[in-house]
Amino acid sequence: MSVAKIRLFVEHPLAPGQSVPLNADQAHYLFGVMRLEVGAALLLFNGRDGEWRATVTTAGKRGGALTCVEQTRALQLPPDLWLLFAPIKKARTDFIVEKAAELGAARIIPVQTAFTNSERIRQDRLQAHAVEAAEQCGGTFVPEVADLISLDKLLAQWPADRRILWADETLTSAQHTLVAAAPGPWAILIGPEGGFSEPEQKRLRAMPQVAPVSLGPRILRADTAAVAALTLWQATLGDWR
Ligand code: SAM
Repeated sequence: MSVAKIRLFVEHPLAPGQSVPLNADQAHYLFGVMRLEVGAALLLFNGRDGEWRATVTTAGKRGGALTCVEQTRALQLPPDLWLLFAPIKKARTDFIVEKAAELGAARIIPVQTAFTNSERIRQDRLQAHAVEAAEQCGGTFVPEVADLISLDKLLAQWPADRRILWADETLTSAQHTLVAAAPGPWAILIGPEGGFSEPEQKRLRAMPQVAPVSLGPRILRADTAAVAALTLWQATLGDWR
């Protein structure tokens, strides 16, 4: 039996003996690029049924099929943590989505703030980055990347029980609200290159769900701040403890 090294995300349900059809892109990757042949083993996950060892049963240029053999890992859900961030330059936005998926965010929401430069995002491309990150890091869950939404609109419908860790670079000293806070639904909010406007800051400060936090005495780039805040939250309240 060959050793499964390749991990592939599929939409199809996974169960013992389940046949999983491949689309043209997947067939091209497995048989054209990775040169797998009938009988080869690989690992599959779909974000719902854990990770499965499967074998290639049919291999074609534009399609093929795999058969699930056994579950190799149970589904591991991340903590109930959302990442809200203002999209920045393309490569840095891709980086934020990739790292959020690796570090264990459950949902990724790009937000348009007063000083956000981009007015649209390629949601499908960002979702593909989240899938790729999960394939690489051994994750069995893929966070949803939502479409761009205005921060105003999002805050207007914000759930009363979901706290917001607001990375607020205007704070002069570290705050310890996070350490004292109970676990529960949370979101992290990271601003764009220009930070938050005065009205946005005022609105955030007035919300009881918001916990402003300093990430140290240096101003971090938004992508660095996203990684730092996710790390801080995961180590304090998340599944790294
Ligand atoms: N407005 C800032 C300026 O021009 O001086 C820079 C904003 S910073 C590049 C982007 C975002 O990263 C901020 O809005 C904040 O959410 C987060 N951030 C960066 N450094 C931070 C720090 N030391 N503490 C908390 N948040 C920080």
